[in-house]
Amino acid sequence: MGQDKPASVRPASSVTSWDREADVVVVGYGAAGACAAIEASAAGLSVLVLERTSGGGGTSALSTGQLYLGGGTAIQKACGFEDSAEEMFRYLSAASGPGQDDEKIRLYCDNSVEHFDWLVAHGVPFKESYYGEGSYTPTDDCLSYSGSELASPYRDIAKPAPRGHTVQQDGIEAGGALMRALVAAVEATEADVLADALCETLVQDESGRVVGVVARVDQEEQAIRAHRAVILTAGGFILNKDMVARYAPLLAKCAYPAASVGDDGRGIRMGMGAGADAIRMNVGCVVLPFTVPKKLMHGIFVNRQGQRFINEDQYQTVVGEAALEHQDGRVWLILDSETYCKPFAPLRDDEPVVGETAEELERNLGMPEGSLQHTLAYFNEHAERGEDPLFHKAENYLKPLVPPYAALDYSTKNALYTVFTLGGLRTNTRAEVLDPDGEPIPGLYAAGRTTSGLAAQGYSSGLSLADGTFFGRRAGQAAKRA
Ligand SMILES: Cc1cc2nc3c(=O)[nH]c(=O)nc-3n(C[C@H](O)[C@H](O)[C@H](O)COP(=O)(O)OP(=O)(O)OC[C@H]3O[C@@H](n4cnc5c(N)ncnc54)[C@H](O)[C@@H]3O)c2cc1C
Repeated sequence: MGQDKPASVRPASSVTSWDREADVVVVGYGAAGACAAIEASAAGLSVLVLERTSGGGGTSALSTGQLYLGGGTAIQKACGFEDSAEEMFRYLSAASGPGQDDEKIRLYCDNSVEHFDWLVAHGVPFKESYYGEGSYTPTDDCLSYSGSELASPYRDIAKPAPRGHTVQQDGIEAGGALMRALVAAVEATEADVLADALCETLVQDESGRVVGVVARVDQEEQAIRAHRAVILTAGGFILNKDMVARYAPLLAKCAYPAASVGDDGRGIRMGMGAGADAIRMNVGCVVLPFTVPKKLMHGIFVNRQGQRFINEDQYQTVVGEAALEHQDGRVWLILDSETYCKPFAPLRDDEPVVGETAEELERNLGMPEGSLQHTLAYFNEHAERGEDPLFHKAENYLKPLVPPYAALDYSTKNALYTVFTLGGLRTNTRAEVLDPDGEPIPGLYAAGRTTSGLAAQGYSSGLSLADGTFFGRRAGQAAKRA
């Protein structure tokens, strides 16, 4: 059977004996799984975490360790920024759609300060410092604008506040520091961890309740009983070529999967096998790295027709999504001699296409006659007055572009489009996995990239670790009532 189909379930009646048991079985030991285990254990439940690799970490440990948190966290306050759950909700609701789950976003915003405090109480280090604008924090600083809060239209929808909270680095990348803290917090509980345990299928009883999993441990199949809940926190599916081809073929054009070995979609397929709905499976976080150095943001992105399609001060994943999904991944960044520089993330062909005039550049790029000339003339005329009537790019990034010109090829063939999947199992605010009728599948919970989370489409940096840790906790808490 292809690797894109629901994984078959094992009927409980066929399990003659169980090799292990726990109240709660957590499948996958990344950030979401660790948080689920901590909360389930705190609720007095016995917990067994199953991890296919040799220890905790997953993609979370490879990440740059930024979490989207706000509403007035201690760091925001210490750095002098005002924020509220309401402003955060307005931003996220507008920036994370269409199709965003407002109920989840509302719950997350209302509890974001508590979630920040919980992370700190469990040893996750954050420095009381503000880095500035931009999703990536190369220093050990914490706070930054990590989405499109300052860009149109969002700056008019919600009062901007920096909400990217990067875990303090300590000789290792911030994602490693996050997982080091969470693994230590799990180890401080009664939870058991079984490494090198590859989960393959769920066990379901006649009533449809999920009662365990089947895992391959030391090359042997083991049946593991979950008395209350199985929590799927096994990452996304960007490394599963069959699933990407079936559900998200556009994402296959991106050169660099942001992933670790577990992102093969097994967790999602296990859930689907038990009757779960999988939603927004076409959506990915598509990072187009053009914002470092910031100088580049003064340029304008154009498509094959020489036309602009977005304000270039939006978060780089929003630009990436727009370029990939609406411009066939074929776009150029037009710069002049003052704004041109080599981007931080390498392009395969670093040599720009140049032109002494707009007309020459247009010809060298093979664009329709007059198209790019018109775009530049129109852009310059308004930029001169600090205006951008088409897309309302912020004034501080507006300046007329004067000849000679250079164009950097940001097509999918040439630029490092980085991607991970955002689609997955449909869950509710209690992290219960839902069937296509919206009914919870008894005994089954999920969080992190095994699910569709806070960002339905538009992504702001830090949302993946944010919803993974938060709804991982919700799953662990809900298991008590299961
Ligand atoms: C370079 C890079 C930078 C990033 N930066 C950020 C950032 O700053 N902020 C942000 O929010 N996101 C970031 N991301 C994305 C983010 O890291 C992931 O989306 C997030 O960590 C997913 O967390 P998770 O807990 O769902 O999955 P993971 O952390 O991947 O954990 C899943 C675990 O499940 C295990 N597993 C998988 N299948 C099975 C199975 N069948 N049986 C048993 N175990 C299994 C895996 O081995 C893994 O340990 C970044 C990603 C990369 C690669």
